[in-house]
Amino acid sequence: MIVKTNDANSCVGKISRREFLKLTSLTTAGLLVGHGSSQGAESTLALINGTLIDGTGAKAVPEGAIVIIGNRIIASGSRTQVQIPTNAQMIDVQGGTILPGFINAHVHGAYYYYAETLLKAWARGGVTTVRDLGDIQPYSPYSKQLFKTRDRLNAIPKCARLVAAGKFVNVKGGYPIAYWGGNAITITSPKEARKAVNMLIDDGADVIKSAMESGLTFGQSGWPLLSPREASALVEAAHDRDKLVTMHVTNALDLERALDAGVDEIAHMVVGNQFLSEKLITRMVSEGNRWIPTLELWQGASRNYSHLNYGKSAINNLSRFVKAGGEVALGTDYAGAPNIDFDLGMPINEIKYMSEAGMTPMQIIVAATRNSARSCDRESDLGTLEPGKLADVLVVNGNPLDDINTLTNISIVLRGGKVV
Ligand SMILES: [Zn+2]
Repeated sequence: MIVKTNDANSCVGKISRREFLKLTSLTTAGLLVGHGSSQGAESTLALINGTLIDGTGAKAVPEGAIVIIGNRIIASGSRTQVQIPTNAQMIDVQGGTILPGFINAHVHGAYYYYAETLLKAWARGGVTTVRDLGDIQPYSPYSKQLFKTRDRLNAIPKCARLVAAGKFVNVKGGYPIAYWGGNAITITSPKEARKAVNMLIDDGADVIKSAMESGLTFGQSGWPLLSPREASALVEAAHDRDKLVTMHVTNALDLERALDAGVDEIAHMVVGNQFLSEKLITRMVSEGNRWIPTLELWQGASRNYSHLNYGKSAINNLSRFVKAGGEVALGTDYAGAPNIDFDLGMPINEIKYMSEAGMTPMQIIVAATRNSARSCDRESDLGTLEPGKLADVLVVNGNPLDDINTLTNISIVLRGGKVV
């Protein structure tokens, strides 16, 4: 690691990673003091000498550079085209790859009493944002409290950013209550569906989570479902407030119901012997629904219940969706099921399963960055290295386009321009 100023005469020369981290934390402490003042105390960083993959899907730039002032990216692209301010601290990434911070758009457990530990581990692993899709503790506080917890955690610089749905909305006795016990906001009419969604948004929900789960995947059937009118009312209420709806779905019949309601995104994947028709795939692609396949969940379920072919069917169906041009975001369902080990930090297992489904390294990177930022409803701020965005940056040794495993060989993580 080489850090120097952009003044040819004042090269600091080679310093250790430890020294670099100390230097940067001093600078960022100064940044906090100077923030918003007219003194211009914001630090300027330039990352150079690396391959740049910006998360938009554009071709990698071999000699890339990125300039950060304060917590925002102000320039990125080829070193020959990016103007580096003379006062910039230069960070030589020594041939590594500069990427946007990764986003795990489907986790749980982010409100546990040890959530801070989890969020710090994610950030250190290059995952600078996670989206919690539903508090699943049986006796947790009312949603308002959950969003206060989110805001408190988001103020801790070394934590991954937390985007939160709060609680599920569903009918009485529906999923997740049907299987995991009581914890959802329950409704009994379209009017109540609207009211529940508005209450969640008033309290601070970033996104609305619901479920269309009739029980097949859990070896059961006939679980209570939102009626078509209730489901449509729920989606309309969210859209009226410019919020996205992501819906738990695991079989083809429920998928059709969710699409009829107009949801934005499908959490999980059609699995098992349920046939996912080309017609439904084409419909999802043409309507622009994103899929978050949670392959790590399905592989874990297959390991624990070897008679189920959930892992394999999830990969097959994802492969068909990707071939048809569907949009995929990355989410693992961390802590979403007992007795399954989920990656904390870089979700390398999910990434390997995405590769098995035929996704290229570039497609996987875009899924885990730009597309997952869309899932978080934060595309204007997160997910790519375009100028104006928050400086959530991941640097790895090696090139993930050649070997996807290099994503775990992390050299630097920045969240909002600060070293994690
Ligand atoms: Zn989940």
